Amino acid sequence: MSPAGRGATATHCPYCALQCAMFVEPDGQGGWATRPRDFPVNRGGLCRKGWTAGELLTSPERLGTPLVRRGGELAEATWEQALDLVAERVGALQAEHGPDGVGVFGAGGLTNEKSYLLGKFTRLALGSRMIDYNGRFCMSSAAAAAVRAFGLDRGLPFPVSDLSGAGAVLLAGANPAETMPPLMGHLTAPALVVVDPRRTATAQAALDGGGLHLAPRPGTDTALALGLLHAARLEGLLDTGYIAERTAGFEAAWEQAAAWWPERTELQTGVSASRIRAAARLLGTAAADQGAYVLTGRGTEQHAKGTDSASAWINLALALGLPGRQGSGWGCLTGQGNGQGGREHGQKADQLPGYRMITDAAAREHVAGVWGVDEADIPGAGVSAYELLDSLGTPSGPKGLLVFGSNPAVSAPAAAGVRERLDSLDLLVVADFVMSETAARADVVLPVAQWAEEEGTMTNLEGRVLRRRRALAPPPGVRTDLEVLAGLAERLGQPAGRFPSDPDAVLAELGRASAGGAADYGGVSAQRLEDGEAVHWPAPAPGASTPRLFLEGFAHPDGRARFRPVGHTPAAEQADADYPLVVTTGRTMGHYQSGAQTRRIGELAAADPQAWVEVHPDTAAEHGLAPGEWARLTARRGTMLARVRLVPTARRDTVFVPFHFGGDQTANDLTNPALDPLSRMPEFKVAAARIEPAAPGPSPAGAAPAAAGAAAPD
Ligand code: SF4
Repeated sequence: MSPAGRGATATHCPYCALQCAMFVEPDGQGGWATRPRDFPVNRGGLCRKGWTAGELLTSPERLGTPLVRRGGELAEATWEQALDLVAERVGALQAEHGPDGVGVFGAGGLTNEKSYLLGKFTRLALGSRMIDYNGRFCMSSAAAAAVRAFGLDRGLPFPVSDLSGAGAVLLAGANPAETMPPLMGHLTAPALVVVDPRRTATAQAALDGGGLHLAPRPGTDTALALGLLHAARLEGLLDTGYIAERTAGFEAAWEQAAAWWPERTELQTGVSASRIRAAARLLGTAAADQGAYVLTGRGTEQHAKGTDSASAWINLALALGLPGRQGSGWGCLTGQGNGQGGREHGQKADQLPGYRMITDAAAREHVAGVWGVDEADIPGAGVSAYELLDSLGTPSGPKGLLVFGSNPAVSAPAAAGVRERLDSLDLLVVADFVMSETAARADVVLPVAQWAEEEGTMTNLEGRVLRRRRALAPPPGVRTDLEVLAGLAERLGQPAGRFPSDPDAVLAELGRASAGGAADYGGVSAQRLEDGEAVHWPAPAPGASTPRLFLEGFAHPDGRARFRPVGHTPAAEQADADYPLVVTTGRTMGHYQSGAQTRRIGELAAADPQAWVEVHPDTAAEHGLAPGEWARLTARRGTMLARVRLVPTARRDTVFVPFHFGGDQTANDLTNPALDPLSRMPEFKVAAARIEPAAPGPSPAGAAPAAAGAAAPD
């Protein structure tokens, strides 16, 4: 790949967790261009989103001045006016309702430094328990399952480059061919097995390569994983030596799987018994030979029983002897850009930096020492993302909310209800760089710097800490999130210096706060990253890095991994006479998350300007739908509009909609906020719905998603 040219800055893509390496440089016409650079995860490749990322740096839709709502309209204000107003109203709300009267909502796209400082700000400057973030909607189920199986959660406990040596890879609910295409360069195993209700591009690639596509009914992944475990045992493919030496709890897990013989699994999932056996054979044979991987994604995790689904796949991987072995493994394909680091440094309602639990007395003492406060000054655990959003403005919930880098008006489940909650607040403050659907409802909008305008670190899907470099200065009038937090903290009475706005200073403090914790950044330094060193956490000391976890033992005290006895339970909502179809949601090639950024990029918006619904031709005929025409989908929580795309490979009982659009094309107006009991993940992937022709189509706001807005990496 070509080296850095004059004026080129080496950094990483602003979007997904692959964090492809790129150069950002002037395009010679007053704008900014990106081009790939060589790096192990992307090997000189970028997807369409990465190639076009520079456009947003000079977008005319960029926010450049603080805005304050006066007389119902957002009007320009100075930073001093805006921050003074926020501090004054926060103080008044907390005086009336207590510290929890104001909450914070963060994001998995924020840098490690922002994630860390946001958690500290909430606990110390606000004294509030009420913080959570949109990563709860992303990897929380896999994280919870990994912690209970291995004692530690890191999306991939190995570098992605390890994947290419395997004989087989099973992908459950992941579609990297569309969502992170450069990853496909590592999926060169002779056999790919893709589990997805849709014939995605990844599923098609598996078939084209002689692999398998298993298309279960949405919500039956756990049954399928149990059936695969059952088939693998019947075929004599389990690694009994590994199970005996490195794990605990197999028999209890087997008691659940014993009932899922392949023919029964076929009845529940719709996947034929012969394919279940074939998949088990592919995976089990490769496991004993070249090595094999089981990888999960949002498709199998975003359920009200998502933790159990992820555990069922981990059980399969453990039974085949994969985790903690060179050349084999289990992993979760993290989604958001800093989905990994964003969940390690204290944005979660129940966690402190370093993956420490906020209820752990020793953890509180340690972090209090770093923060220079009394342990009792750190509040306890708050509530999860949807519970926080659903409580806004209610008698028991916060009356004020500060949102950083997230667009829950589009990305939260049951989003119409969430918008009502946001609108009921006495104070909504949004820090963003574009006028998102959430920012458009705010009382105060704070314009902040975006990716190539600031320094910081991100942690990619393999736990590697990366340097995000500044290529250009933010526009005049724009501040960084760290500067915003520092300015607010000072106004809220915090001592000078407690909230540094220099990212390297924050990283150094984060290292001290995380030291000794599960996600130990104690030995991560700006200089190591600047030098290009590959630093995978845990990195407890200078020079330390852990690219592969668990090779010597798992993170439980006895070093053994734990099987979890999980059974299949139905989705929270079933199709019925009123709502005869299942609607499932997901990401696609051209847009990122809520579409906040990508809907404002000309090439991406032109390719996919509006929401669509994928429907089997027979289902379309049954419901009077024509290709290219508008359809209305209705679930118990709301409706959305989408253009009909006929997909002959679709399941007849299931329709698919992307969740990248706002206005009356908001897919999350349909989704079910039923929550996983452990991870508190909502049921994004299964909702009962009906579909009908819609004329004349969307309202102007819905038909012009870019004008309607979109936000930061949500
Ligand atoms: Fe790479 Fe993801 Fe960016 Fe695409 S969106 S270029 S896959 S980091």
